[in-house]
Amino acid sequence: MIMLNKLRNNYKTNIIKEKYRHLFVIIESIHNNIVPASLEMLGEARRLMDHFNLTYNSNEKVIAILLGDGIKDLSQELIFYGADAVIYADDPNLKYPINKIYTKVISQIATDSNSLEEISPEYVSEFKKPRYMFFLADSIGRHLSATVLAELDSGLASDINKLVISNLEIKHQHKTNGKAISYQKILEMYRPDFSGFLWTTILCLDNKNPEIEKEFHPQACSIIPGAFQPIIKDTRRTGTIVEYKPKFDQDDLKIKVLKQELTKNPFQFENYKVIISFGRGIKENPQDNIKLIEKLAKFLDAQIGISLPISKKIFQLNEKYDSLYITPNRVIGTSGIRVTPKIYIAVGISGAIQHLEGMKESDFIIAINPDENSPIKDVCDIFIKGRMEDVIPILLEELDKQLGQIKEEKEIKVNTYGKL
Ligand SMILES: Cc1cc2nc3c(=O)[nH]c(=O)nc-3n(C[C@H](O)[C@H](O)[C@H](O)COP(=O)(O)OP(=O)(O)OC[C@H]3O[C@@H](n4cnc5c(N)ncnc54)[C@H](O)[C@@H]3O)c2cc1C
Repeated sequence: MIMLNKLRNNYKTNIIKEKYRHLFVIIESIHNNIVPASLEMLGEARRLMDHFNLTYNSNEKVIAILLGDGIKDLSQELIFYGADAVIYADDPNLKYPINKIYTKVISQIATDSNSLEEISPEYVSEFKKPRYMFFLADSIGRHLSATVLAELDSGLASDINKLVISNLEIKHQHKTNGKAISYQKILEMYRPDFSGFLWTTILCLDNKNPEIEKEFHPQACSIIPGAFQPIIKDTRRTGTIVEYKPKFDQDDLKIKVLKQELTKNPFQFENYKVIISFGRGIKENPQDNIKLIEKLAKFLDAQIGISLPISKKIFQLNEKYDSLYITPNRVIGTSGIRVTPKIYIAVGISGAIQHLEGMKESDFIIAINPDENSPIKDVCDIFIKGRMEDVIPILLEELDKQLGQIKEEKEIKVNTYGKL
């Protein structure tokens, strides 16, 4: 009983004191379809907030924010995929994700307690801003997350692929004036760095040092597509759907998108059964190594991909190789394209998560790499430990032999049948 009263009292004081509530998930849509990775974020938001509400005896919501033109009908789908509520703004001016306009409307929604009247009346009177906010780490979300968080005057962690909410004791020279202070409900945001060899944990903490006191909310991040799983769609789930009427100035509407076209990748990776990608491991002799990879690709009728750093022109190559291979259209991964060939050969690629997301669904993965500790080893079916300069010539020689044998066998068969 004492325990229960204590919980109730805590609950009451929570209601009075906390200005930051709920987890806002910024949903992306294209041609009025939800971008699938948005549902992954929603799934993780659901898991985190279920745990949060249990742990802190509260009733905070997962709120999906949806902007566009003719998108209202997608709201129900977001409830089925884990949102408690959806706040949508359906307006012709939101047809395209123009950063300036989207930043303005998302920031308006994030600071407007009126929209929460129906969603969570118990917290409305104190509400100031969201507690947490998620964006997608894609070309739209990366930009948008930065400008929205600047507008909301808080911090942002980019390209996150693991999240935990916990209480932490922090001692920091500036933030806490050197004292150990307990922080509640902190979003620990993890990102892979140094090609996935190291994890960085990013925290967005209030300054509790009286000299520089300042609150930093929402705690926000952009999330790498593919990092989380959506929850299974449940059409029995119910939730609240609220329309938000955005306010624009004439100045906001100066930028106009006249036409939007989805461009096709010129390398048509989808038409190849084998894809060979190369990465920074070509470094010892870039041009000769690309020639070797080209030969192997010719043998296997394969298309050639690259890792992201290669596209940044980090090696000096002659004009032919530079224009043929060093292009963003060949990048495999979250910043490029996703491929699912029968065979994927990763040559001189370490296997950073952003690269793996683009190729891990391939049927059979082979890696050529001298470093057994490279993360690519964990996802490949065959790991050939060695330098590409040594391994590829052996492979070519063996393929040549095998091809010769096949030809010979065919000829013998033809002769034998000829005799009969
Ligand atoms: C926001 C963001 C988005 C990103 N998006 C992408 C993306 O879409 N795609 C992508 O690829 N990366 C992406 N990255 C970069 C990613 O994190 C890695 O830095 C990158 O994938 C590493 O490229 P790499 O494997 O070519 O190079 P490295 O990590 O340097 O690996 C080189 C590998 O070559 C091996 N090697 C060395 N010598 C040889 C040799 N002689 N023969 C064979 N192997 C050798 C080494 O052992 C090593 O494993 C992104 C990063 C960020 C922050």
